[in-house]
Amino acid sequence: MGNRAIGLKSLKEILANNLPSGPAEAPVPRKEREKAAEAGSPVPEQAPECPICLDRGIVFDGETAHPCSCMLRKSLANRFRHARISRNLRMCRFENFNLNYYRSSGDQGYLENARKALAAAQELVERSLCSPYGLGLLLTGSVGSGKTFLAAAIANALTEQGQQVLFLVVPDLLDELRATYDKRTETTEFDLLDTAREIPFLILDDLGAHNYTDWTRNRIYSILNFRMNEQLPTVMTTNLSLQELEDYLGERTTSRLVQMSRVFRLTSEQDIRLRQYQEREDRRSPRK
Ligand SMILES: [Zn+2]
Repeated sequence: MGNRAIGLKSLKEILANNLPSGPAEAPVPRKEREKAAEAGSPVPEQAPECPICLDRGIVFDGETAHPCSCMLRKSLANRFRHARISRNLRMCRFENFNLNYYRSSGDQGYLENARKALAAAQELVERSLCSPYGLGLLLTGSVGSGKTFLAAAIANALTEQGQQVLFLVVPDLLDELRATYDKRTETTEFDLLDTAREIPFLILDDLGAHNYTDWTRNRIYSILNFRMNEQLPTVMTTNLSLQELEDYLGERTTSRLVQMSRVFRLTSEQDIRLRQYQEREDRRSPRK
């Protein structure tokens, strides 16, 4: 959207419906205001949440008007919510991907692999901004080796650029699929599956050693098969080897998975999350 100016005429129309009429009385709960808006009745006034635009959503710059920063913030927050990127993953950014965690082991292979995976992740974001079709990534490696961090950094970068992303944590996805299967509420199941199939960019985090049934295995196959045929990029993380993936997900799914991805391996000497925990604690109570 950016800071495109809104035509003055439409601006007047907006303001005509939205001018504050005198001081607000007791605050009206949001639920009630939303209900009133839905029913088409006049929405009761409330003290403005945004002191800059008084909740009009626009600010004036001489003759022109721009969307207020509060609108941009809200729309970004909505995009992250729709993408299902959890709050603790939103700070994962390429510039915070710390190569030192891979450097210290003395094994140059670890660092080299991490560099390649980082470069591939950044390249994938660049490419996806130009063309929606192509190979995705399969990030393998032990627990706490930075795979989810990198997947989240991709999701965050694309979401900020306005791309449609869905971040699914596989154990949660399996729970949701099972719940809908148990209740036979087919609509929700198919909503989620359709979205996972068709979303321009999908992340499947932690395709690991879970309890797959034939039924959930088939659902995962159908997501991946559709995406491969449509050349929609998918980023997957797993702590399993390809052989183990085959044992858990079956041969046909694993073969799709490899056909639609560039494969990278991240290895660190120690669980990065443990190291970050230690560093955080050290900052709190510096050793004397
Ligand atoms: Zn505002």
